[in-house]
Amino acid sequence: MNKSTMVENSEQMIALRKLIRYASEHSPYYRETLKGHIELTNDFGIDDYKKLPFTSKEDLAANNESFLAVPKNKIAEYVTTSGTTGDPISLYLTKNDLVRLAKNERDSLALMGSTSEDLFQLLTTIDKQFMAGLAYFLGVQELDAGMIRIGPGVPQLQWASILKYKPTKLIAVPSFIVTLIAYAKENNIDFQNSSVEAIVCIGEPIRNDDLSYNTLGKRIADNWDVKLFSTYASTEMGAAFSECEVQQGCHLNEDLLFLEVLKEDGNEALDGESGEIVVSTLDVEGTPLVRYRTGDIAKVYRQKCSCGRDTPRLGPIIGRKKQMIKYRGTTLYPKAIFEVMESFSEISCYKVLINKDELNNDEITILLEEKIESLEVFGKIKELCQARLRVIPKFQFIEANVLRSKVYVKHLRKPEKIKFS
Ligand SMILES: [Zn+2]
Repeated sequence: MNKSTMVENSEQMIALRKLIRYASEHSPYYRETLKGHIELTNDFGIDDYKKLPFTSKEDLAANNESFLAVPKNKIAEYVTTSGTTGDPISLYLTKNDLVRLAKNERDSLALMGSTSEDLFQLLTTIDKQFMAGLAYFLGVQELDAGMIRIGPGVPQLQWASILKYKPTKLIAVPSFIVTLIAYAKENNIDFQNSSVEAIVCIGEPIRNDDLSYNTLGKRIADNWDVKLFSTYASTEMGAAFSECEVQQGCHLNEDLLFLEVLKEDGNEALDGESGEIVVSTLDVEGTPLVRYRTGDIAKVYRQKCSCGRDTPRLGPIIGRKKQMIKYRGTTLYPKAIFEVMESFSEISCYKVLINKDELNNDEITILLEEKIESLEVFGKIKELCQARLRVIPKFQFIEANVLRSKVYVKHLRKPEKIKFS
């Protein structure tokens, strides 16, 4: 966002000043780090803001409790998110933060055209200190709509509920929808004529950079005539960017976040350019964050959306800054490799290993099941790597069971599809 939009948008500037004042007074971490950096007058503007230090995920992990800005008895919810070292990071929410969370998801769902007439089925975890399931539950209540909480997995239960209660919308991780479709086909469930009209997709991107469907999005859309909505959110932000009905990127909710999209050189990305998403969390009491570097890279769209709203929109996450791979003169993100692997139905499991060679360049090795080596498809995999990634990585073939145990590591919440060493 540039200065001219800030001036027009003074409400956001007021909220931003309020956040910075609040954080520097109440959060021990910011009391230290913002000391000497701010003189909060009414003239405090975007140029002053841009001089404030960033907060990284590492800062949040290393000083977790010092971010808490309220006495412990004001914490209504303890949620966690995975840290960079694998230790979970805690985020503390007050009662008002829960109200903010509800408002966020209500606005998100409304942006997608949802109303109080809708009935939602929740296919994600609501307990285990996860934020997303809880946030959607609260948002649906705030929208005055209905909710069926099935939770993750168990396709037969999901379908039984869909057929019985007739929800209009699902809230789900999109890769699980692929499983749901496969189950319906195997069990002759007439899913094409079900009550489901749309799916709110969380946690994984369903679009490419140019906003067309990626492999995952296509696998769903080609099989099931439902509308798919993208979202981008994180526990730290306590807010989501969501697609509107014209689906030209995910809109910022300006009441809840102040957004910067920063290029490598530190300058703000212009319309259609990509950069790192940096946010300040407006109106947060428990764990306020100032200039939080998410590490996520996306394109930003600043032209007015054809839905009529003029808030900036984000494209799908291209990758994480830390996961940028430099390989033989090209740079790429893990997602590009995943896309190639997931487009082959013969590949049911794989793992990408990134190692440094003696010249400190990244080396990519892909572990595949041993049967793939002798199949014709192996040639096609190499061809597609060349075409899409512009490089052919090394391949290593191992026994299927061994491979699966390397991907589905017991103590991890998600399959480990890539490992940096
Ligand atoms: Zn729009």
